[in-house]
Amino acid sequence: MQDKLTNILRTAKQQIAASDDLTVLDQLRVQYLGKSGELTKILKNLGNLIPEERPKVGAKVNQIKTQLKDLLTERHTSLQNAALDKKLQNEKIDVTLPGRGGHLGSAHPVTQVKNRMIDIFSRMGFSIVEGPEIEDEYHNFTALNISEHHPARAASDTFYLNDDRYLLRTQTSPVQIRAMEKYGVPIRVITPGKVFRRDYDATHVPMFHQMEGLLVDEKTSFADLKGLLHNFLNEFFEQDVVLRFRPSYFPFTEPSAEVDLQCAMCEGKGCKLCGSGWLEVLGCGMVHPSVLESAGIDSEKYTGFAFGIGIDRFAMRSYKINDLRLLFDNDVRFLEQF
Ligand SMILES: [Zn+2]
Repeated sequence: MQDKLTNILRTAKQQIAASDDLTVLDQLRVQYLGKSGELTKILKNLGNLIPEERPKVGAKVNQIKTQLKDLLTERHTSLQNAALDKKLQNEKIDVTLPGRGGHLGSAHPVTQVKNRMIDIFSRMGFSIVEGPEIEDEYHNFTALNISEHHPARAASDTFYLNDDRYLLRTQTSPVQIRAMEKYGVPIRVITPGKVFRRDYDATHVPMFHQMEGLLVDEKTSFADLKGLLHNFLNEFFEQDVVLRFRPSYFPFTEPSAEVDLQCAMCEGKGCKLCGSGWLEVLGCGMVHPSVLESAGIDSEKYTGFAFGIGIDRFAMRSYKINDLRLLFDNDVRFLEQF
C-alpha cells in the first residue's frame, strides 16, 4: 500500500508539472482529490486494511493530499500569470497609433434655423423675449382679440389643462402681450418658442416652433413691415426674393396679410416643388388697436406690426425635408445629415 501511495504521488507530481493549461490542471485536481478521486477511494476503503495499517495509511493519504493541493495551487497561479502575460503581450496598446476620431454632434436643424433667424433679427435691433408654455386663457386668447366663441378656443384644437383657465399656448403671441405689459413701448422684440395644437399628419405635429416679431412705436406703417420682412427673407434665403402680400384675417392684426415667396426654382411659373409658383412663408399685419389697449398702450398714439414665422416650416424649406414629423422623430441617421 505504501508503494502504491508513493507511486500515486510521483505520477501526480509529474502530471501537474507537465500541465500547461488551466483546464487540464482542473481535471488533475478532480482525478486525485475529487469525491471519487484516487486518494478519496483509498480513504473510503481503509476498513479493508488490517487494523494496524489503517492510521498509518490514513495519515499518509492526508499528507499526500495536502502536498498535491499545494502543488496544484502553485501551478494554477503560475499558469494564470503566464496567461495574463500572454494576453498583455497580445493586446499591447500602441499609443503612437492615430485615434479613431470622436463623433461630433451638431445642433438640431430646427435649432440651427432658429439661431439664424435670431441672428438676423438681433442685427435689426430686436430683443429676444421668452414666455411660459403654460398660458392662461387671457394671454393666449382674450388679450389677442380672440372672441369667446372663436373656433381656435375649442378643446378640439387646444390642449387645456385640468383647470380650464390654463392651457398649453397655441401660439407665441401671448409673449407679445406679456412683453408689452412688462416693458411698455416703444418695443421691438422677437419671441421664439414651442407652441402646441391638437394636430398630427405629414404637415402638422402637436408641438412645433414659432417665432413671433412685434414692433410698436409712433408712426409705424405697413410699409415698414414690408421692408423689414423683405430684408429678413433676403438675408435668410441668401438671395433677392420676390414676395407677394395676400390680404388675410387674424383676430390680433388689422389689416392682416399672408406672405408668399416666389419659388426660386420656377420663378413663379409653377413646378413640382411649389405647385402654384408661390410658397406661403408667414403671416403678418398691423397690431389690432384692441390688442394694444389690452396691454395698456394708447392706440391713438402708438401703432405697431407683428409677424409670425413657423420655424419648422422654414427648416423644411431650407433643407428640403418633405415630412414635418421627421424633424421630431430624433432618428440620429436623419439628424446626422445636418
Ligand atoms: Zn416652383
